[in-house]
Amino acid sequence: MKDKAVFFDRDGVLNVDVDYLYKIEDLQWVEGAREALAHLYKLGYKIFVVTNQSGVARGYYTIEDMNKLHAHMASELEKYGAKVEKFYFCPHHKEGKVVEFAIDCDCRKPKPGMILQAFAENDLDKEESFLIGDCKRDVEAAEAAGIRGYLFKEGSLLDFVKGLL
Ligand SMILES: [Mg+2]
Ligand SMILES: [Zn+2]
Repeated sequence: MKDKAVFFDRDGVLNVDVDYLYKIEDLQWVEGAREALAHLYKLGYKIFVVTNQSGVARGYYTIEDMNKLHAHMASELEKYGAKVEKFYFCPHHKEGKVVEFAIDCDCRKPKPGMILQAFAENDLDKEESFLIGDCKRDVEAAEAAGIRGYLFKEGSLLDFVKGLL
């Protein structure tokens, strides 16, 4: 049987969006975010994060910095009983100054590359899967990948998730 999945944008959905977050001490969870992921996990959803991280291409932080933050987030979430299957990230930006990442890629949302990669790496049911983001480009990426996308703006992410199910 195929798994159902929920894709989360990171900044503005899981953590409060401070510009170019990469330091663990600057991480501030959105209200109800950890609880929302735990709730979905208990319901059998596979949880993925799909995040544009152009700060890498811009030279503000490295992939290693970002990975440390994601490992920290994953361990915090585990304490709440939630497991993130994988953090997909796009380190690119065509105007970035780190040459290696200064490309016009297929993974930066609104392009669906990260979501499609998750579908390629897992046996997921598109009909049963959806994305939650806080920007139009998140929802556009979801739609381009053939899944539903929902716009989260404020309040408790747990309440928002419960309202969708
Ligand atoms: Mg966002
Ligand atoms: Zn990319």
